[in-house]
Amino acid sequence: MNNVTLEELIEKVRSYNKGNIDLIIKAYDYASKKHEGQKRQSGEPYIIHPLNVAFILAEMHADIDTICAGLLHDTIEDTDATREDIERDFNESIALLVEGVTKIGKMNFSSKQDCEHANTRKILISIAEDIRIIVVKLADRLHNMRTLQHMKGYKQKKKALETLEIFVPLAYYIGAYKIKNELSILSLKYLEPREYENLIEIRKEITKDSEKCIQDMLTTVKQLLDEHNIENEIRVRIKNIYSMEKKLNNGYTIPEIHDLITLKVIVDDVYTCYGTLGLIHSKYHVVNDKFRDYISSPKTNMYKSLHTTVFGADDKLVQFQIKTREMDRAASLGLAAFWDFDKDDARKTMQNELKNKYQFARSIIEIDKIFKDNGEFVDQVKRELFRDEIYVYTPKGDVIQLPEGSTPIDFAYKIGNSIGNSMIGALVNNSEVSLDYKLKNKDVVKILTNDLALGPNDDWDEKVTTSTAKKRIREYRKKQ
Ligand code: MN
Repeated sequence: MNNVTLEELIEKVRSYNKGNIDLIIKAYDYASKKHEGQKRQSGEPYIIHPLNVAFILAEMHADIDTICAGLLHDTIEDTDATREDIERDFNESIALLVEGVTKIGKMNFSSKQDCEHANTRKILISIAEDIRIIVVKLADRLHNMRTLQHMKGYKQKKKALETLEIFVPLAYYIGAYKIKNELSILSLKYLEPREYENLIEIRKEITKDSEKCIQDMLTTVKQLLDEHNIENEIRVRIKNIYSMEKKLNNGYTIPEIHDLITLKVIVDDVYTCYGTLGLIHSKYHVVNDKFRDYISSPKTNMYKSLHTTVFGADDKLVQFQIKTREMDRAASLGLAAFWDFDKDDARKTMQNELKNKYQFARSIIEIDKIFKDNGEFVDQVKRELFRDEIYVYTPKGDVIQLPEGSTPIDFAYKIGNSIGNSMIGALVNNSEVSLDYKLKNKDVVKILTNDLALGPNDDWDEKVTTSTAKKRIREYRKKQ
């Protein structure tokens, strides 16, 4: 994305909001002055960054206060401006947003100190109280990830890791899939560059290979819907490489993935969604256990759609997602879509929705009630909301992603079949550990191997978590 100008930002905001544009100009001037002389890693003037963040927010149709907060978001952190200054020169809502964004940046899940835990607790509660803080922070992180090539290598990995640990889950919790997907793909690019390139190639091949099947089905389904006078728009989606990588990590092979190819059918109303589903089911053979009705039971982040997978043309598995236009917009922006749905009181509606319907806020409020101790509170939030995966390093610095609870045996089989089979021990951060040691985030793991090793022990089955390791151990025994 190219850098935007203030004029472009204003034009964008004017296209959906007739509010106080002068306040945006004032925020821009204020931030320019405060950041004067500061440079980004790329050598460009610093103001480019908040300006782009504000533009990302304008693309979501954010309200004026949020756009201003986007422009001012780094002034408390990086200049002599204070919360009080911003409240005096702008308003309380903007000041609270900027302060909230500054604090999220300092959220620290790995610390053991109680004052840090107390801080993290406060931040989590405050973001459950104003969802716009998350949205501004996500826009901030998105721009930083888009321009990460200017940072040094180890900093790139650190940022990418933090993005996967904290911001990808946050985007998911508020249902903002478009942001979640872009952030996770960019993280993969910096964490596992070779895997990233490899998957891009694989995705290209899939796209080429499925061209005929897709054309065939587009024609058939269009005709079917037209015959029944159903207004429709059909979009083609090939699974993104991050989701692909997750599936491959879980032991699937490419042809086994049931939603590599998706046809998104957008129709006018909920009633028509079910009618369309019926027509598609009457035309194609359905894969029985893949049907999901997320309209009658939405996901915990309020994602709504009908999903079904069929045996499509060329014997390929093809997924259909059937939804209304509103559901489609909500799936891309999540809670942030309310800026567009409810122009008058979006802020209040978003907050009500968050507290009543989204599992994320409900969990935080619930956990807050149960745990008095700050450390326990943070642990529980982490367990329930932020950690289904850990990231560890090879001695060379490659990042390996594993599910929580993984051991050095899981790690060994993840990096290679023969390494697992010839494993005799493991070093974690240079000290020897037992084979059932539970790996922690950022551990550096070295596997000790010996060509004369006897292969997997009988008790290894109980020591592994990943399906890859389980599968490979079983395969090894079969061969013996
Ligand atoms: Mn920033």
